[in-house]
Amino acid sequence: MDVFEFVRLRRHAQGEVGLGRFVRLLQDLPEQPQGEAGLVRWAIDGEQGTRGEQLLRLQIQARPLVQCQRCLQPFAWPVQAEVLLQPVLTEAELDEGLPLDEEEDLDASQPEKVLGSRRFDLLAQIEDELILSIPYVPRHEVCPDGSPGAGGAQAQDERRPSPFEALARLKRNDADKA
Ligand SMILES: [Zn+2]
Repeated sequence: MDVFEFVRLRRHAQGEVGLGRFVRLLQDLPEQPQGEAGLVRWAIDGEQGTRGEQLLRLQIQARPLVQCQRCLQPFAWPVQAEVLLQPVLTEAELDEGLPLDEEEDLDASQPEKVLGSRRFDLLAQIEDELILSIPYVPRHEVCPDGSPGAGGAQAQDERRPSPFEALARLKRNDADKA
């Protein structure tokens, strides 16, 4: 999609995409559900910022399955992310205009600059946000019955890498060699 045109015309788009499309995301996750439960819903709007910046507002909803690192059971991790993106034309612009004065520094709504182009990779952007939304060590708040979730066994369990993690690492190493 032409991201600059999209913003200029204040366009809106939305859609759904299966979690199976996101190879980078899935390399550390258990198998994802098919159908409705495995869908990522996204919406994107072209906007103008308070200082006239051309912005993209990206919203994502999904419930990817993650593996609890305490009891090793998979569970759905609700993702509801919204991010403001500011497409720029060149790599140099990515580093430009970072806030220097404290007032701006405190502005949490500072958009994240992304390299725009006539072929903006929306799926890659969605995947980045999904990866950022999932904790590195996901855990049930309370593990299901029968697991040593709470209490003494916890610390021990946390140090033991899951078989899935080990497998993922092996796969990655193979990929690196190839
Ligand atoms: Zn658990």
